[in-house]
Amino acid sequence: MSKFSKILASFILGLAVVGQFFSGVIGAQDKPKVMTTFYPVYFLASQIAGDHMEVSMLLEANQDAHAYESSAQDAVKIQESDLFIYQDDEMEYFVNDLLSLVESDATKVLESTEGIDLLSGEGKMSEDHAHEEEDHAHEEEDHNHEGHNHEFDPHTWLDPVIYSKQAENIKEAMIEIDPANSKTYEENYQILKEKLDELNEEYQTKLKNLKNKTIVVQHRAFGYLAHAYGLEQIAIAGLSSDQEPSAQQIAKMQELLKEKQVNKIYVDPAIDSKIAQTVASSTQAELLPLRTLELVSDEEKAAGEDYFTLMLKNLEQLLRN
Ligand SMILES: [Zn+2]
Repeated sequence: MSKFSKILASFILGLAVVGQFFSGVIGAQDKPKVMTTFYPVYFLASQIAGDHMEVSMLLEANQDAHAYESSAQDAVKIQESDLFIYQDDEMEYFVNDLLSLVESDATKVLESTEGIDLLSGEGKMSEDHAHEEEDHAHEEEDHNHEGHNHEFDPHTWLDPVIYSKQAENIKEAMIEIDPANSKTYEENYQILKEKLDELNEEYQTKLKNLKNKTIVVQHRAFGYLAHAYGLEQIAIAGLSSDQEPSAQQIAKMQELLKEKQVNKIYVDPAIDSKIAQTVASSTQAELLPLRTLELVSDEEKAAGEDYFTLMLKNLEQLLRN
């Protein structure tokens, strides 16, 4: 290659990079770009967008949103998007720092749980305190100013009814950035909502007759599910999936299992289950799979698994309790 063509090549490469960077401006005929954080948000966004938007996930399929550390590269990806959707700042701790790096005002940012009453970190509905006006106001204040102490449980998507409210928020945001296709987004949302309502009815009907309503889980992700269907959740580890209990806490858990006469422990096969294994082997409890849906692998997606198929598998497992 001559010196001149080398220079030309690097110039063209440079143009491509710059072009990619400003693709939001230059490629006006392109589909709107939507960046989501992790699977539960990605699933809703891709269902509602259909083929009118380009929906991506910021985290890799095997990256834990509770523990994710964002990079400057992530900020660029958000900046290049028309819409950025995340679950909740109790779930994706990294979002506030990340958004402070985003320089463009052209990206609409949506917290998908916006306007939804969240359960407190202990598994109690903040709404329960609604009649005590002062307490309620105080809790809201804590939520806004105290930051990341898991005061609220972020795992809303495991209750299909709350999940459909998130879907509605996402639909509204999509209509706002792409009003020309509002009819499609509205239709896709309605289809999704009906399916979520059906799923809820199936959960209601089948879990009603469950004899042992105490479920023991590794990761405390099932607060909303328990709240919706009259179950009691006992968690071996905490609200963050990477939180490890002490030996003392494990011993306490063993006692609790004996006391409650529970002999099943639910673990998500996608999450490290050493803690649950320790408790299970010392209490002769059986380990059963229950997905938090925080991690859904690319292989599973390719095999046709999605929120609905995995939620139905979860229901089957819950019925074995
Ligand atoms: Zn979680």
